[in-house]
Amino acid sequence: MVANHERGRNFMSGGTLESPIQFLKGVGPRRAALFERIGVRTVEDLLRRYPRDWQDRRETPDLSLPTATGSVVIRGRVLNARGQSAGPRLALYKATLGTARGKVECVWFKHMSRRFDVFAALKKEVKEGADLWIVGRADPDLTGIREVRVEEHYPLADERWRLHVARLTPIYALTEGLSPRFVRELAYAALETHADAVADAVPAALAAKRRLLAAPQALRGLHFPRSEAEREAARGRLAYEELLLLELAWILKRRQTRDVRKQYSYEIKRTLLTPFRAGLGFELTAAQRRVINEIFEDLRKPHPMTRLLQGDVGSGKTVVALSALLLAVENGGQGALMAPTEILADQHRATLGRFLKGLPVRVVSLTSRMPKKERAKTLERIASGTADIVVGTHAVLEGDVRFKSLRLAVVDEQHRFGVRQRATLRQKGHLIDLLVMTATPIPRTLALALYGDLEVSTIDEMPPGRAPIKTALAPESEAFAAARRAVAAGRQAYVVHPIIEESARLDLQSAKAEYERLRSEVFPDLRVALIHGAMSGKAKTKVMDEFARGEWQILAATPVIEVGIDVPNATVMVIQNADRFGLASLHQLRGRIGRGAAESACFLIADPRTPQARTRLDAMIATADGFRIGEEDLKLRGPGELLGTEQSGELSLQIADLFKDAELLSCARADADEILSADAKLLAPEHALLRRRLLGLYQSRWNWIDLA
Ligand code: ADP
Ligand code: MG
Repeated sequence: MVANHERGRNFMSGGTLESPIQFLKGVGPRRAALFERIGVRTVEDLLRRYPRDWQDRRETPDLSLPTATGSVVIRGRVLNARGQSAGPRLALYKATLGTARGKVECVWFKHMSRRFDVFAALKKEVKEGADLWIVGRADPDLTGIREVRVEEHYPLADERWRLHVARLTPIYALTEGLSPRFVRELAYAALETHADAVADAVPAALAAKRRLLAAPQALRGLHFPRSEAEREAARGRLAYEELLLLELAWILKRRQTRDVRKQYSYEIKRTLLTPFRAGLGFELTAAQRRVINEIFEDLRKPHPMTRLLQGDVGSGKTVVALSALLLAVENGGQGALMAPTEILADQHRATLGRFLKGLPVRVVSLTSRMPKKERAKTLERIASGTADIVVGTHAVLEGDVRFKSLRLAVVDEQHRFGVRQRATLRQKGHLIDLLVMTATPIPRTLALALYGDLEVSTIDEMPPGRAPIKTALAPESEAFAAARRAVAAGRQAYVVHPIIEESARLDLQSAKAEYERLRSEVFPDLRVALIHGAMSGKAKTKVMDEFARGEWQILAATPVIEVGIDVPNATVMVIQNADRFGLASLHQLRGRIGRGAAESACFLIADPRTPQARTRLDAMIATADGFRIGEEDLKLRGPGELLGTEQSGELSLQIADLFKDAELLSCARADADEILSADAKLLAPEHALLRRRLLGLYQSRWNWIDLA
């Protein structure tokens, strides 16, 4: 490692942890602005900007073999070097490097410029006789690696190469305009001069009990580890700290909701509940009865309920939600049922119509596509209390909707309804009960970490009489033949075509083309309809209603039908390009069938090119159990992706991994509990730093945390 005093002199001119990074040498206003974009303003921010990965950059031992990743690290002397243009835009700089393992051609790619010499910097460092480290990529031919496309290079004459090569090298998430070389050197300089000033947020007693590394040591070990073991120890220490802060935040969040009192109370009158139950046409499962009891008990507490209802697709969450809504209505209040898409909202509206037939409950739907006049009328009914239950999208709780006496909001498919939205809801004066439902169940310990302000109820049983769904990877012909047989038996089938955000327009085109093919070539004798997300809400509703009534036999669809749709007569699901879907989506799609007693089958048409795609499809074939699928999905994608970037950002976890660090998590939870039961507002001097970090991390992310 480079000597301390030397680095310090090079980079620093004083300053503290709170100083703007412009204090660090080499950071002018332009670079400071670039850092600001990734949330790095102060020296401490920089130290807390952990590497996103580490690369093993020890010298590649054998150039005659391809490397596993295609990347190589070599060292040698420049034998000759020259720049050349390669077309109007592209310039190449080439150098022949003599290494201990033979000669290697190194190539740098540059954008051509007429205004300045694009090779100026290279000419200084990469010239005949210079000794260099090269980090780059190579496609070896039969005789081994001959040419390397250079990504980074470091002259041996400058000792700083030791930060970049021949080690476990930290890789930082960069923004354009900041080179990896610069960021690493700056991080190192900041560590050298300021790491020791970083005080431990974790109280000393706790650090001793858990045998934690000191913060400065952990930061050094994480940014510039000397071994894998050192990095792991450092990572564990800092992950624990993140988890401790998260658990503290959750406890405070929960306390915040428990401290408020509702302005109303519930009495189980059964004036609506009893006729509702009697008219269902089926018995509730034991699991449904249990969760309804949990919810009712919670509703009758003096503080607002915040509860998550987990249950696999088709487990019957809707009747549970309806029971809770009816309790609110029985008590003279209003309820709202919200879905992530308009199709699903329409479906809920239809379901409520069926289940509540003959009951004195007034249901209205509220959508963004309603004509102005009708919308105004509906808003007026909601405000005057002549509507009991409002069904709509999440927009129902935003903007201009005023309720006379809203008591319970039910949010379906909660993964798009994060902690921030929950806080906003409360802040808008909605001191109401909240029930969020998800069909992507996850293990309880994880649920506690991800949705720590929620109580969790789980439906772990399917309604009886469902024939299991067979799932298979199949050629198209087989899948279509099965669809045909189902139709011949009076059933219906879905054929789903993927649309992913990155290529949505092209995907939509091919979905339409595919529909044409199905209609005119594959099933010319059958009634085939198309539904896709770009259709107007009205058109979508029309097609869905017609399909539910059996007017269409085959429904060609995009993933708009992924959530909620309930047509028990549909028994075949064909998923095209199934390798392009995520596991949770596949499972949701499959959940559209198997809703009646008839045998159902799901066909995955795919040519999986990546191991992950293969794993997803294998998991689908191996199990139809949503809990196992959920777990597998978490393993494959990590909680961050599962939640979506917005919500993973909410948890503020840079390096802790809720899955891998389950044990740390439970330690952190116990410790957070202990800390707050001794010092409820973190006012003790030994908790001052914890308090500051906590507010810094979560106050704005979660709208607020109550520590006053
Ligand atoms: P999800 O949990 O996916 O939202 P739904 O509420 O849509 O599931 O229920 C799926 C289907 O099962 C619906 O047709 C619903 O009427 C039916 N269902 C719900 N509970 C039962 C039950 N206890 N017995 C039989 N069918 C049920
Ligand atoms: Mg549902």
